[in-house]
Amino acid sequence: MSKFDQAAGIVHDALTRIRENGGDVRASKQSLAKLVKTKPAALIPQKTEPPARHAEESASAKAAAVSSQKPVATPQSSVGAGDKAERMDALRARALVCQKCPQLVSSRTQVVFGVGNIDAELMFVGEAPGADEDLQGEPFVGKAGQLLTKIIEAMGFSRGNVYIGNVLKCRPDMPPNEPGNRKPRPDEMATCLPYLIEQIGIIQPRVMVALGATAMEGLIGAKEPMNRLRGRWHEFKGIPLMATYHPAYLLRNQSISEKRKVWEDMLMVLERMEKPISEKQRNYFLSKG
Ligand code: URA
Repeated sequence: MSKFDQAAGIVHDALTRIRENGGDVRASKQSLAKLVKTKPAALIPQKTEPPARHAEESASAKAAAVSSQKPVATPQSSVGAGDKAERMDALRARALVCQKCPQLVSSRTQVVFGVGNIDAELMFVGEAPGADEDLQGEPFVGKAGQLLTKIIEAMGFSRGNVYIGNVLKCRPDMPPNEPGNRKPRPDEMATCLPYLIEQIGIIQPRVMVALGATAMEGLIGAKEPMNRLRGRWHEFKGIPLMATYHPAYLLRNQSISEKRKVWEDMLMVLERMEKPISEKQRNYFLSKG
């Protein structure tokens, strides 16, 4: 018997009892069955979108709260897969029409929300989309992105089974005809951070990697240089956070020693995730430089 038929039976029994007690109600099981067949919207449980807790906070309150916020992670078992996808879709829909930073709204081609597996154990966070990402609507698709993809694959993952996002979801505006990308400003990152916090809360990765000092500043307000931040564990709302150099830095600085440092950071990530590390992976840079 379906849940609706069961419910119809309960309603019929209740109406019968009212009638037996002198009440003037008339309903046969057949007429209730007709009601069940039509399944009016009001009888069907409606899907509820979780309240947009973080998105409505003011930018300054958000910035102040960044380092003190409690873990966003809720137990994995409490979030059903369908529920996760719905929550992410609802969040994406809100982010794609965001108008909070007028200068970015007028310069962007599109909002670059994030890409990958919503059940990912590992999440990479960069600073902001560049020109390529702004055009394609996907994070890390330019030259730096191609290097990030190589790093991800060398770790034994693919772009499809990790999640990749940015602190800022719009390309920072540039003066007309000026090439390159500018660094996102702290106020822009603070305004956008609630979207990322919600993304992380839905995905609940086991480990996060921040790519570069700006991502670290946007995530946890870190002001130290990268050579002091990288290679050690930080925390973002209860989730272990590894800081490493941005792939764009590796493209500018081609020295093997800097690449090796990033790889050492990624080995720490694999260890933390209790993933098997092959001899080849372990010795990747030992033979070089
Ligand atoms: N750099 C970033 O930090 N993010 C991107 O998506 C692309 C380049």
